[in-house]
Amino acid sequence: MKRTDDIPAEELVRSARSARERSHSPYSKFRVGAALLARDGTIITGCNVEISSFSLTCCAERTALFTAVSRGIKDFVAVAVVSDAEETPPCGACRQALADFNPNLEIILGRQDGTFTRTTLGSLYPKPFLPTSFPHGNIPQ
Ligand SMILES: [Zn+2]
Repeated sequence: MKRTDDIPAEELVRSARSARERSHSPYSKFRVGAALLARDGTIITGCNVEISSFSLTCCAERTALFTAVSRGIKDFVAVAVVSDAEETPPCGACRQALADFNPNLEIILGRQDGTFTRTTLGSLYPKPFLPTSFPHGNIPQ
C-alpha cells in the first residue's frame, strides 16, 4: 500500500490536465481529464467522451478506468480529476465504478493552476455496493 506521501499528486494533476485537452465534449464544452495511479506507479489517463446520443457519454474517470482494465491493470491507489470548473469530484457512476477496484482510493481534485485538494473515495462514497456484496460469496470474475 502506498502511503499518501508517496503519491505524486502534482504529476497526477499535470497528467489529468493534459488528458483534459483531449476531451471530446462538443455539446457541453465541459472538458474533463482524469489520471489514475496504479499501485505499480503506472499512470493511466482518460478524458470525457460525449456522444450525440447523450446517454452513451463516458466520464474521464471511467474512460481512464476502462483503459487501465483493458491493459490488465486493476490495482489503483489514486485518481486526479481536472476540469474547466474549480473542482470536479467524480459523479455517482464513477464513484461506484472506482469503488469496485478500491473503495479507499485517494481522490485528488485538481485545478487549472496546478493546485489541488485531497480527499478519499471513502469519504465521498462511504457505503458502496462492492463485488463482495454479492450473496453467497458469488463474486463475479
Ligand atoms: Zn463520472
